[in-house]
Amino acid sequence: MDISHIEHIGIAVKSIEETKKYYEGVLGLKCYAIEEVAEQKVKTAFFKVGQTKIELLEPTSEDSTVAKFIENKGEGIHHIAFCVNGIEKCLSEAELAGLRLIDKAPRKGAEGLSIAFLHPKSTFGVLTEMCENKNK
Ligand code: ZN
Repeated sequence: MDISHIEHIGIAVKSIEETKKYYEGVLGLKCYAIEEVAEQKVKTAFFKVGQTKIELLEPTSEDSTVAKFIENKGEGIHHIAFCVNGIEKCLSEAELAGLRLIDKAPRKGAEGLSIAFLHPKSTFGVLTEMCENKNK
Protein backbone atom coordinates (compact mmCIF):
# COMPACT_ATOMS: atom_id res chain seq x y z
CA MET A 1 0.00 0.00 0.00
CA ASP A 2 1.09 3.54 -0.58
CA ILE A 3 0.46 5.35 2.73
CA SER A 4 1.86 8.88 2.98
CA HIS A 5 0.92 9.94 6.52
CA ILE A 6 -1.70 9.82 9.22
CA GLU A 7 -4.50 11.92 7.76
CA HIS A 8 -6.40 12.20 11.02
CA ILE A 9 -7.24 10.60 14.32
CA GLY A 10 -10.95 10.29 15.00
CA ILE A 11 -12.09 10.86 18.58
CA ALA A 12 -15.60 10.07 19.76
CA VAL A 13 -17.04 12.76 22.02
CA LYS A 14 -20.41 13.46 23.56
CA SER A 15 -20.26 17.16 22.83
CA ILE A 16 -18.05 19.05 20.41
CA GLU A 17 -18.88 22.30 22.23
CA GLU A 18 -17.57 20.90 25.51
CA THR A 19 -14.54 19.20 23.97
CA LYS A 20 -13.51 22.33 22.05
CA LYS A 21 -12.81 24.04 25.37
CA TYR A 22 -9.95 21.59 25.82
CA TYR A 23 -8.58 21.48 22.26
CA GLU A 24 -8.86 25.23 21.69
CA GLY A 25 -8.72 26.65 25.17
CA VAL A 26 -5.98 24.47 26.62
CA LEU A 27 -4.07 22.94 23.71
CA GLY A 28 -4.39 26.10 21.66
CA LEU A 29 -5.43 24.32 18.46
CA LYS A 30 -7.85 26.05 16.14
CA CYS A 31 -11.07 24.42 15.01
CA TYR A 32 -11.16 25.27 11.30
CA ALA A 33 -14.25 23.34 10.23
CA ILE A 34 -17.41 21.85 11.62
CA GLU A 35 -19.31 19.60 9.30
CA GLU A 36 -22.24 17.24 9.64
CA VAL A 37 -21.96 13.91 7.83
CA ALA A 38 -25.60 12.86 7.67
CA GLU A 39 -24.82 9.44 6.26
CA GLN A 40 -22.76 8.55 9.32
CA LYS A 41 -25.03 10.41 11.75
CA VAL A 42 -22.20 12.48 13.16
CA LYS A 43 -21.12 16.05 13.48
CA THR A 44 -17.38 16.48 12.96
CA ALA A 45 -14.96 19.18 14.07
CA PHE A 46 -11.44 19.46 12.68
CA PHE A 47 -8.20 20.74 14.17
CA LYS A 48 -4.86 20.78 12.36
CA VAL A 49 -1.75 19.45 14.03
CA GLY A 50 0.95 19.79 11.39
CA GLN A 51 -0.01 17.58 8.48
CA THR A 52 -2.35 15.53 10.63
CA LYS A 53 -5.79 16.43 11.89
CA ILE A 54 -7.82 15.66 14.94
CA GLU A 55 -11.40 14.83 13.98
CA LEU A 56 -13.92 15.05 16.79
CA LEU A 57 -17.03 12.95 16.20
CA GLU A 58 -20.23 13.79 17.98
CA PRO A 59 -23.21 11.51 17.32
CA THR A 60 -26.30 13.25 15.99
CA SER A 61 -28.56 10.27 16.63
CA GLU A 62 -28.80 7.51 19.21
CA ASP A 63 -28.47 4.84 16.55
CA SER A 64 -25.24 6.33 15.21
CA THR A 65 -22.31 3.90 15.40
CA VAL A 66 -20.41 6.62 17.28
CA ALA A 67 -23.21 6.79 19.88
CA LYS A 68 -22.91 3.03 20.32
CA PHE A 69 -19.14 3.30 20.59
CA ILE A 70 -19.44 5.87 23.40
CA GLU A 71 -22.07 3.76 25.13
CA ASN A 72 -19.78 0.71 25.12
CA LYS A 73 -16.35 2.22 25.58
CA GLY A 74 -16.84 5.81 26.63
CA GLU A 75 -15.36 8.84 24.91
CA GLY A 76 -11.94 8.40 23.36
CA ILE A 77 -9.98 7.39 20.28
CA HIS A 78 -12.38 5.93 17.75
CA HIS A 79 -10.28 5.38 14.63
CA ILE A 80 -7.05 6.15 12.86
CA ALA A 81 -7.06 7.33 9.27
CA PHE A 82 -4.22 6.84 6.83
CA CYS A 83 -3.80 9.05 3.79
CA VAL A 84 -3.22 6.77 0.82
CA ASN A 85 -2.55 7.03 -2.86
CA GLY A 86 -4.86 4.72 -4.78
CA ILE A 87 -7.58 3.83 -2.30
CA GLU A 88 -9.17 1.19 -4.56
CA LYS A 89 -5.84 -0.64 -4.80
CA CYS A 90 -5.45 -0.46 -1.00
CA LEU A 91 -8.85 -2.01 -0.53
CA SER A 92 -8.18 -4.86 -2.92
CA GLU A 93 -4.82 -5.50 -1.23
CA ALA A 94 -6.54 -5.51 2.15
CA GLU A 95 -9.14 -7.94 0.87
CA LEU A 96 -6.49 -10.20 -0.65
CA ALA A 97 -4.71 -10.20 2.72
CA GLY A 98 -7.89 -11.55 4.27
CA LEU A 99 -8.87 -8.39 6.14
CA ARG A 100 -12.51 -7.64 6.78
CA LEU A 101 -13.66 -4.57 4.89
CA ILE A 102 -16.48 -2.44 6.21
CA ASP A 103 -16.57 -0.63 2.87
CA LYS A 104 -15.87 -2.68 -0.23
CA ALA A 105 -15.69 0.50 -2.26
CA PRO A 106 -14.73 4.02 -1.23
CA ARG A 107 -17.48 6.43 -0.25
CA LYS A 108 -17.60 10.12 0.45
CA GLY A 109 -16.48 11.28 3.90
CA ALA A 110 -16.01 14.66 5.55
CA GLU A 111 -14.02 17.27 3.63
CA GLY A 112 -14.88 15.57 0.34
CA LEU A 113 -12.37 12.77 0.88
CA SER A 114 -12.88 9.28 -0.49
CA ILE A 115 -12.89 6.99 2.53
CA ALA A 116 -13.23 3.32 3.43
CA PHE A 117 -13.03 1.51 6.74
CA LEU A 118 -11.34 -1.75 7.71
CA HIS A 119 -12.97 -3.72 10.50
CA PRO A 120 -11.15 -3.58 13.86
CA LYS A 121 -11.57 -7.36 14.26
CA SER A 122 -9.03 -7.85 11.50
CA THR A 123 -6.73 -4.92 12.34
CA PHE A 124 -5.81 -5.84 15.90
CA GLY A 125 -8.47 -3.74 17.53
CA VAL A 126 -8.08 -0.48 15.66
CA LEU A 127 -10.86 0.75 13.43
CA THR A 128 -8.82 1.82 10.41
CA GLU A 129 -9.84 4.31 7.79
CA MET A 130 -8.15 4.72 4.44
CA CYS A 131 -8.65 8.06 2.78
CA GLU A 132 -7.62 9.76 -0.36
CA ASN A 133 -8.05 13.33 -1.48
CA LYS A 134 -9.03 12.99 -5.11
CA ASN A 135 -9.73 16.72 -5.44
CA LYS A 136 -6.13 17.81 -5.07
ZN1 ZN B 1 -12.24 9.67 10.02
